[in-house]
Amino acid sequence: MKFKYFDGPLTDMSGLLLDGGTCDLCKKKHNFCFNLSFAISTTFQDEEKDGKIGCYDCLLKGDFEFWHDTEFGFLDENGLTKVYSHNMDNPPLVDRMKLSELRKTPQIITYQQEVWLTHCNDFMVYKGIWEPMDFYKNSETGNGRDLFIEMTDSDLNHLWDDSLVEGENILEQWYATYYVFECLHCKKMRGNWDCD
Ligand SMILES: [Zn+2]
Ligand SMILES: [Zn+2]
Repeated sequence: MKFKYFDGPLTDMSGLLLDGGTCDLCKKKHNFCFNLSFAISTTFQDEEKDGKIGCYDCLLKGDFEFWHDTEFGFLDENGLTKVYSHNMDNPPLVDRMKLSELRKTPQIITYQQEVWLTHCNDFMVYKGIWEPMDFYKNSETGNGRDLFIEMTDSDLNHLWDDSLVEGENILEQWYATYYVFECLHCKKMRGNWDCD
């Protein structure tokens, strides 16, 4: 399986059946199938959409899709709409191909609502989950906190200092799950986090 916007471990992919399955759309066996608690697909009547299985091939063909909450707005069959969010701007004009590609991208397993990050007028690529040590490892200067602050929006960047044990300088663990994304165009890394 290959996705433009999902380059993280398969274990972070929501609904993926690790033993494969039989697709309810094309009726074929496939090594990569998704458990769809509610299938977003015109193949089924509304009352038949619960508890379906969809395969990777049918996803690529657009026979079913995934909707996503993103920084641009909520992405569904009609495109991007501004939702609930506080001081979010109206969604920018995003190329239809990009919207369609993200609808063919599985969701990320998160504790709260997934929010797909954006950069350079495109969706970013999901890379995986980082622990505090990953920030030290990936920082050019070895300063994990600096990298964390650089990658994290100000409303979320209290996590590092909040997690630091008093009197210690190195952060070893935290209570959160931190999701890392990379820009396809300028390679900037960003992330957000949630917890249970
Ligand atoms: Zn199928
Ligand atoms: Zn960028």
